[in-house]
Amino acid sequence: MIRHDYSRVDPKRRANLDYKKRQFANAEFQQQNYDHRLNFYVLPPTAEITLEEFETWAINRLKVLSELEACSFRNRGPEETAEYMKSILDKYLPLRSNSSKSQKLQEERRKDHYSHFILRLAFSSTEDLRRRFSRLETMLFRLRFKDDDLRERQEFVRSLNLEWEEVGEDEKRELRDELMAASGQKKGEEQEWFKVDWERVPELVEQRRVLLKRGKAYVPQREQMSLVVAEFTKKLDEALELTARALPRLDEDDRLAPILAHLSQSFTAPDAAYSSSDADIDGLSTITANSIDTLSQHFPLCMRNLHTTLRENSHLKHFGRLQYTLFLKGIGLSLDECIIFWRRSFKLITDDKFQKEYRYNIRHSYGDVGGDANRRGRGYTPYSCQKLLTEPLPGPGQSHGCPYRTFTPDNLTSILQRVGVNDRDVLKSVKEDVGKQRYHVACNRVFEWSHKREIKKVKDDGSWGANDLDTIVHPNTYFKRSWLLKHLGEGNAGVVNEGGGVEKMEE
Ligand code: SF4
Repeated sequence: MIRHDYSRVDPKRRANLDYKKRQFANAEFQQQNYDHRLNFYVLPPTAEITLEEFETWAINRLKVLSELEACSFRNRGPEETAEYMKSILDKYLPLRSNSSKSQKLQEERRKDHYSHFILRLAFSSTEDLRRRFSRLETMLFRLRFKDDDLRERQEFVRSLNLEWEEVGEDEKRELRDELMAASGQKKGEEQEWFKVDWERVPELVEQRRVLLKRGKAYVPQREQMSLVVAEFTKKLDEALELTARALPRLDEDDRLAPILAHLSQSFTAPDAAYSSSDADIDGLSTITANSIDTLSQHFPLCMRNLHTTLRENSHLKHFGRLQYTLFLKGIGLSLDECIIFWRRSFKLITDDKFQKEYRYNIRHSYGDVGGDANRRGRGYTPYSCQKLLTEPLPGPGQSHGCPYRTFTPDNLTSILQRVGVNDRDVLKSVKEDVGKQRYHVACNRVFEWSHKREIKKVKDDGSWGANDLDTIVHPNTYFKRSWLLKHLGEGNAGVVNEGGGVEKMEE
């Protein structure tokens, strides 16, 4: 174990000096042993991990943080958030207590430790990113602190050696009335008190849950969580500042820089790789060119807008065609059917022009032509929300991108009304989300409103877990989830017929 020796340093500069020394010191250990489930992330990791672990672990943690952020954007209360986050944490960042006796304790804690530090690197470059990262990491810490095993939590807090002064019996007696008034404690109830500089517990001071005297806040034992959490945030904020200063040195590492850049971009909207399982939809066995009109009611606004524009103009410009073709490929439309779809949609041009100017690009998107790499990779993958939310804005006459970002607020409201979103509260909340650049949150809000009955049903009967209803960050996930929800109970018995409707198959 590495000893914490703070004794001869001015307390105000203590943390800074200590971090700095530690961050750039030679590695003092290779593999760390994690005694506690919770972590203040004071010591950076120094053992080796693979680049793949580096990226995967960071993406997993980012998923957790993004979901936490979505909970706060959606004003979910602490209990609802804890309930929602449970399966997400179990899947992406499990962290069991010692009493679980799990074989994977050290492995889980190592992933938690490393992923925190990787994201710290990715999100320390700007003030805005630092603030968001610190806020979300604090939320995560609080969530875990709350549901930690009681005894293990106490051991962890003791191990932190936080400089809290215990209030002695004499002082307790002297301040008894004031302490009782401040904490709402009843006569006869005994409890322990700590005193700390009042700036360290702003949350408690603001909520008037402590006694303030001579620059000190007197904090009852049961408010320990606020103290620990405030300490966590303070240490993290200081560390982020120091990391930001050290960042330029990392530019020289051309293995890490692109990964870190990609991760920080993922904070705009969490990235999601397209998974071929998105095209594998129970009950939706054959999609043809004729199915698209009917299926478009399940498309997210970005694709629905392209579909409507295509039907109105019998044409779409290059980037719109590319975005839409990849989406259709992603939902399972075959290359042949896709060519038929575009040929029929571009009804104002001749066959000859279509063959010469458009057919090749569709085949290219499917990996049917082009260089070896394109063909081996079977063309391009469907675009994620992140890609659509970060690419340059469309120019005049272009319709690609995400309408929550590219449309003016009034136009957005009209297009939403046109597709049936007529709830004034939802429209108002969408406007607010968009004003704060939370585009994918607005999209998820609309999704949840449009499918509220079905979502309630699958939640009530427990047939879908929280993971099946996590935040949508890919247009193809939107489609798949919408289709499945609207066809609940049809199992594998549905097939998309030539007219695009879904009919039951004979047993
Ligand atoms: Fe499409 Fe994503 Fe925008 Fe929704 S948030 S409209 S799925 S790009």
